[in-house]
Amino acid sequence: MKLNEFPEDIREYLVPGPSGTMFYRCLGCRGIFDSDSLLYTCPSCGGILMLSYEPTGEIRGIEGSLWRKIFDYRRMLNISPLKGIFRYYEFIAPVIPLESIIYLGEAHTPLVMANKNLEELVGLPFYFKNEGLNPSLSFKDRGMACALSFLNYLAKKKNIKNLLTICASTGDTSASGALYSAYLTNFMKSVVLLPKGKITLEQLSQPLGSGATVLELPGVFDDCMKVVEELSEKYNVALLNSKNSWRILGQESYSFEIAQDFDYQVGDKVVVVPIGNAGNITAIMSGFLKFLKANVIPEAPKIIGVQSTHADPVYRYYLESDPPKRHFKPVTVKPSVAQAAMIGNPVSMPRVIDLVSEYNGAAGQKRVFFVSVTEQEIMDAMIIANTNGHIACTQGGESMAGFMKAVNQGLVSKSELGVLNATAHVLKFSSFQEMYFSNGFPPEFEVKPNRKFGNTPLSIEPAGLDKLPEPGKPLQGKDLERFIEATAAKIASILDLKKR
Ligand SMILES: *Cc1c(COP(=O)(O)O)cnc(C)c1O
Ligand SMILES: [Zn+2]
Repeated sequence: MKLNEFPEDIREYLVPGPSGTMFYRCLGCRGIFDSDSLLYTCPSCGGILMLSYEPTGEIRGIEGSLWRKIFDYRRMLNISPLKGIFRYYEFIAPVIPLESIIYLGEAHTPLVMANKNLEELVGLPFYFKNEGLNPSLSFKDRGMACALSFLNYLAKKKNIKNLLTICASTGDTSASGALYSAYLTNFMKSVVLLPKGKITLEQLSQPLGSGATVLELPGVFDDCMKVVEELSEKYNVALLNSKNSWRILGQESYSFEIAQDFDYQVGDKVVVVPIGNAGNITAIMSGFLKFLKANVIPEAPKIIGVQSTHADPVYRYYLESDPPKRHFKPVTVKPSVAQAAMIGNPVSMPRVIDLVSEYNGAAGQKRVFFVSVTEQEIMDAMIIANTNGHIACTQGGESMAGFMKAVNQGLVSKSELGVLNATAHVLKFSSFQEMYFSNGFPPEFEVKPNRKFGNTPLSIEPAGLDKLPEPGKPLQGKDLERFIEATAAKIASILDLKKR
């Protein structure tokens, strides 16, 4: 719809521009730093940072009901930079001018309702939110859209002509970072650090295809992360891991969308998310808190963080119910099918600790829960979800397994509805599906397939034919007729088809 066709009272709010100020806030010493620079850790104490926004002028007085109207009308607006995460411009990074915003088609992913089969199996109705339908096939694109828009803005402002982005990855950060950096190829190059053999071939092909420099390191993700932290502290590079707080801001759009898609009634929703480096659960809590404080939503949803027993430091931390007695201890990870979340020392743990207590405090009751699931439960859930019409990756399976566990443990009540994060596209993780179907998991994964779901292609070779079609050599006449007849008969017998 054209701008002049919108109701007059909403028009002035629809196309936003920069206003107010943003600043980095240290979670350690509580120091505050100007946002017009690239900071990943606190310059005074080395603590982890979050970004905050101080609005000025009119924005301060906007009420929840008007925000809802603004977002709902913006849905109908055909202005490219406002099509993705920046529909919620004022709640993301309202210092970036629209002309600096990078939009590659990310965000506004569908909520797909589970069918009756799945609902019965899990015990409650739920939706998958299909984050695999983002441009690089994972939710990481939400954060990259914000981080790269900021870099684009900063480069223009500070006249930076060459910029090198860098990240460590379990596969999807590198795919996303390389894609968004490639869009800005005229002044940007990207480097990605990957744990050798610990990402799938599909994920490896993504940064290669985007033209990134791909470096494979020994060890696991946690080792790559340490190296990348060292590089970003000592050298002039732009870090794209979720330690970069601009990433967190972009990922908050996930919460805003859930709120909007349920007409801002999320008090009865249970938002389930797998945890790896803990950037995503940080963003989800922070996003709902912002909407709650601005009265965009009257109530915040329940949140359930899920970890595999092979990489569960956050779950273990919260096993202790008495907060002063809690003590964070990194774990040594074991091989996990939820490979994108196979992280033993999550960078965002200080953010999680802060936000969980703030979230529970704002709700006046415990609203954030953690569960752990086995590798077997993750794989079974993914296979079952996908044989019921979904496209969930292994981490999406982890969400479903976690939701089932929460239902069984009584953490969720009958009147609630699940919203499960299917964090990436299943095709990135087809190697795990293949191992399941062929019973090919190495023992350390501890996964035994349920044979009921085993699925491999059947080769159809009808007997008694002297000629078969070959590529470039089609059959003709009687030969072709005999081939069609014999092959159809063979298939009919295999499928036990009845004659019409
Ligand atoms: C990155 C990732 C995760 C884990 O998210 P964190 O923000 O690191 O906790 C889960 N699933 C997929 C598919 C991912 O790419
Ligand atoms: Zn500090």
